[in-house]
Amino acid sequence: MKIAILPGDGIGTEIVAQALRVLEVLDLRFETETALVGGAAYEAHGHPLPEGTLKLAQAADAILFGAVGDWKYDKLERALRPEQAILGLRKQLGLFANLRPALCYPQLTHASSLKPELVAGLDLLIIRELTGDIYFGQPRGRRTAVDGHFPGAEEAFDTMRYSRPEIERIAHVAFQAARRRHRKVTSVDKANVLETFQFWKDVVTEVHAQYPDVELQHMYVDNAAMQLVKAPKAFDVVVTGNMFGDILSDEAAMLTGSIGMLPSASLDRQNKGLYEPSHGSAPDIAGKDLANPLATILSLAMMLRYSLDQAAAADRIEAAVQAVLAAGLRTADIWSEGTTRIGTRAMGDAVVAALTGKAMTPS
Ligand code: NAD
Repeated sequence: MKIAILPGDGIGTEIVAQALRVLEVLDLRFETETALVGGAAYEAHGHPLPEGTLKLAQAADAILFGAVGDWKYDKLERALRPEQAILGLRKQLGLFANLRPALCYPQLTHASSLKPELVAGLDLLIIRELTGDIYFGQPRGRRTAVDGHFPGAEEAFDTMRYSRPEIERIAHVAFQAARRRHRKVTSVDKANVLETFQFWKDVVTEVHAQYPDVELQHMYVDNAAMQLVKAPKAFDVVVTGNMFGDILSDEAAMLTGSIGMLPSASLDRQNKGLYEPSHGSAPDIAGKDLANPLATILSLAMMLRYSLDQAAAADRIEAAVQAVLAAGLRTADIWSEGTTRIGTRAMGDAVVAALTGKAMTPS
């Protein structure tokens, strides 16, 4: 099996290098091949997603992605900006399911904006549909209103839509993920107001009939936003559409307090996926050995679990990360009084040491 490695820009290269060291010590004998993406690819080939990179991503069984982007590319035309590489990969590879776990490690509860007792031990998974909904629905645009409150005025409009197969496939992803966890799915909708989400609710309920061992709960999105900050530990798997998922997954991310800890996966129909940290390329700290590589290392664990059928190796990585945190080692973004502050590479060293059973002395 082959893993495509796309480090990208900014801290992308530093954090992916640490994840690769972790992969190496696991000795799983996967083939890896690295390619340029984002700003780095634009500099070398004039495009953020060159043909060769796309071909490699298409041929691979999984993709480990760092991050792309830099403020210096902000003036480029939109199609050539580094961030277009991600959109291109999602589209070309049919990555329709975005999985974002929000896990609050007991040692990091202070980093959350919520009270420690609300988040200690938090472990929820948000599954966001990624290729449909109001973000992609046609028609959309600007025009002169012919009706509504102000006929004759300039107006803008978008189209919210979901087809049955789109809802069915994301519902299957959610129920199957729940089977690997605590067997509870919360489907988030706005069925009380939107036709699209009444349909969503109906189809999710139908698919649920195939998963009698999984509990299904429906929740309106406004209530879900409230419950996420009131009692986040009541959730196991949350499944929702593209726009609600966009908002709720960022809200859930903040429950854990640090973006440097959050992995993510985007999957296609065959569970082939692109795995990346939830954060960006952090140009402000790039090249300074300050970035937290744990989100990328945990993305590698997700890859092993969801795409490469190596759940035991994934468990080992997650346990090693726990051990490093328990030993009091922290990068700057998660540092607090009484813990030891270390850099990107030393954090990689520590995870490798935890995996190989060596002492975790930062280098
Ligand atoms: P960002 O996530 O890169 O950074 C936000 C803040 O979090 C910064 O202060 C940064 O230093 C910090 N941070 C991020 N990751 C960290 C880590 N691993 N360890 C420690 N601190 C970390 O978001 P931004 O600053 O809004 O965007 C910077 C660039 O990244 C932009 O060009 C943006 O378009 C791009 N971006 C890319 C992706 C992606 O590749 N998937 C996602 C978001 C943003």
